[in-house]
Amino acid sequence: METTVLKKIWLSPPHMGGSEETYVKEAFDTNWIAPLGPNVQQFEKSIEDYVGNNTYAACLSSGTGAIHLGLELLGVSHGDEVICQSFTFAASANPITYLGAEPIFVDSERETWNISPVLLEKAIKDRLAKGIKPKAIVAVHLYGMPYKVDEVHAIARNYDIPVIEDSAEALGSSYRGFNCGSFGDFGILSFNGNKIITTSGGGALLCKFQSTKEKAVFLATQARDNAPHYQHSRIGYNYRMSNVLAGIGRGQMEVLTDRVEARRSNFEFYKEHLSSLPEITFINEPEGSYSNRWLTCVLTPSFDIREKIRIALENENIESRPLWKPMHLQPVFEKNVSFVNGVSEDLFERGLCLPSGSSLETGDLERICGIIKNLLK
Ligand SMILES: *Cc1c(COP(=O)(O)O)cnc(C)c1O
Repeated sequence: METTVLKKIWLSPPHMGGSEETYVKEAFDTNWIAPLGPNVQQFEKSIEDYVGNNTYAACLSSGTGAIHLGLELLGVSHGDEVICQSFTFAASANPITYLGAEPIFVDSERETWNISPVLLEKAIKDRLAKGIKPKAIVAVHLYGMPYKVDEVHAIARNYDIPVIEDSAEALGSSYRGFNCGSFGDFGILSFNGNKIITTSGGGALLCKFQSTKEKAVFLATQARDNAPHYQHSRIGYNYRMSNVLAGIGRGQMEVLTDRVEARRSNFEFYKEHLSSLPEITFINEPEGSYSNRWLTCVLTPSFDIREKIRIALENENIESRPLWKPMHLQPVFEKNVSFVNGVSEDLFERGLCLPSGSSLETGDLERICGIIKNLLK
């Protein structure tokens, strides 16, 4: 008996451009099947050219590894405190704990959903009053929306605390004409399978100096001293990107601009077709901000309505997902010090990410909007 299975629509699937296989084949043809090689160098160069603003990129096996190395290069170690945006994916905070340091969580503001400059300053003052100077700040451009770069970096400079700019979701976003990833003492990118471009798994640490990039690469390749035998004067990691996967990355960089346009046009489609519904609201770009609209997120009036929409889509084989659950509400971090204002908890309760892949077709978007409109009418 035939049953019709509705075409699955994923939240954010990979989208190859065409030349990825050529570069991967090059790796095979030249036998560069190693965690270094010409594809890695070319991929790094194309990231550096794209991000600009004096950026040196070190390609790694994940964005999480990039945050780990960035924190280590900033000297974060056992017993330190690091301030971290609470409204994010766990990978922003986990590497702080790898170094034996403690994440201190700071809530979001309403305009960009990212770290609140007001609470950030409050947190810093509180810790300083207790005799602890935070060693670093991890700020995140969540869903591709730039955080308040001017305000956050002014505070960081004022208190002389370095910033790790988590741009895992924000490749292709910019703020006042400069690309995300280029503002922090370190920036990080992710090429995980769900991100705007992917190498199936991978990441990059964005550095301000060639010499810092060299240190990152040194640590990422087991911290081998310069000697004919294997000699180590410190602990290293195996974090370098494979030359095979960097071939995928080279191909993906050729279509990055198209991918940003496609994600932004998904957002425009949803906005045009759903914003007449009183139950659905969208987040706008503040003046000066340009978001890659990695995921289109909507806010509903309540947890119940959000769940109703999510389940209705699920029943039609369409994947959607609640917004990130804030770190200060995660069981693993519930005892950590946090500075909260209720914003991220509210967003988590009422917010939903809609399918946002760059390969979505108009028919897919119409199907999704049709289900939501039908449900709420
Ligand atoms: C995906 C992601 C990361 C981690 O990247 P991986 O490459 O998956 O390790 C870090 N931070 C944020 C905000 C992310 O979305």
